[in-house]
Amino acid sequence: MENRRDFLKKASLLTAGGLLAGQSTLVKAAAPDATNKHAAKAIGLQIYSLFDELYRDVPGGLKKVGLMGYSAIELAGYRNGTINGVDMAEFKKMAADAGLKITSTHVNPPAREYTKENKQQIMDFWKKAADDHAKIGVTYLIQPGQPATRSVEEVAYVGEIFNEAGKIAKAAGLSFGYHNHDGEFARVIPGGTEAVSGRNGFGREAPKGVEIIYDGMLKHTDPSLVFFEMDVYWTVMGQQDPVEYMKKHAGRIQVLHIKDKAVLGQSGMMNFEMIFKQAYTNGVKDYFVELEKYPGGTQFEGVEGCADYLLKAPFVK
Ligand code: MG
Repeated sequence: MENRRDFLKKASLLTAGGLLAGQSTLVKAAAPDATNKHAAKAIGLQIYSLFDELYRDVPGGLKKVGLMGYSAIELAGYRNGTINGVDMAEFKKMAADAGLKITSTHVNPPAREYTKENKQQIMDFWKKAADDHAKIGVTYLIQPGQPATRSVEEVAYVGEIFNEAGKIAKAAGLSFGYHNHDGEFARVIPGGTEAVSGRNGFGREAPKGVEIIYDGMLKHTDPSLVFFEMDVYWTVMGQQDPVEYMKKHAGRIQVLHIKDKAVLGQSGMMNFEMIFKQAYTNGVKDYFVELEKYPGGTQFEGVEGCADYLLKAPFVK
C-alpha cells in the first residue's frame, strides 16, 4: 500500500514551480487588494497543499486562495515547462489576477542518486528549470526531495552538487534552496552504507565522525549559493527543534514551511509562537503554509483553516 512518504516522493517528483518576483510574505502588503477580505497579513501558500482540487479550475481556485488571505504562492508541479500542464506564463497571469505573487517554486532534479556520471544531466536540468522560472519572475528555486545520502562522503558530494545548482540559479537571477523532510535528521558515518534514524540510532557509543545529514548539508554548501527552507513540522518529526536550528543557522535558514500534522495549531505539537518569534529575530522574509492530504474536509477547507489560524494568531505580524 502506498504510504504518505511514498506519495510525497512521487508528488515531489512532479513538484516545481515559480512565478512572480518576490515580495516578502512576512511583510504586510503595501496595497491590499480590495477583493481580498483579509489582506492585513501577508501569508504564503505552497500550492501542493491543494492537491488535484486546484486543477479542476486553476483561475477560480487561485482566486479562492487570495480571498482566504494568502498573498504569495510557492509553485509545485514543474514539468516540461509547465505547472502540472498549465503554461507557466498563463499560471503567472492567473495568480496575478487572484492577487497572488509567485515567489518560490519546488523542483526536483531527475535523479536521486548523484554520481559523477549523471552530474551533467542534473545541471542541464537545473539550467532549464532556472531559465523557465526566471521568465516568470520567481525568486526561489527550491529542491524539496532528499537525494541519496548514506554516508558522510555522500552528504559532502550532495553539497557539491547543490553548490553547482546554486551557481546556475544565481546566474539566472534566482536563489537556490533546499527543503527538508524528516529523513535529513537521520545520521550517517564516514564510509557508511545507510542512514540511521532516531537520536540513538547508532547506540550509546556513536561511531567517530557521526553526522546528522542536515548538518552535513549546511556544512558542505556555500552560504552565498545555497539557502535552506526549513519545514518546521518535518524537523520536529525528525526529532529536532526547528527553533534551535534557526538560532544556530540564522543566516542559512532563510525561508520556512509553516506546517502542522493537519490544520495549523490543531495538533498541539508545534510551537508556532516560538517559531515566528525566532523568524522575526532572524529577519526571515518568506514562509509558506503547507498541508498534507486533509482528512477533515476538502483541501481548500484545510488551507483556509490554516490561513484563519495565522490571521488570528497575535504573534504573526
Ligand atoms: Mg514542506
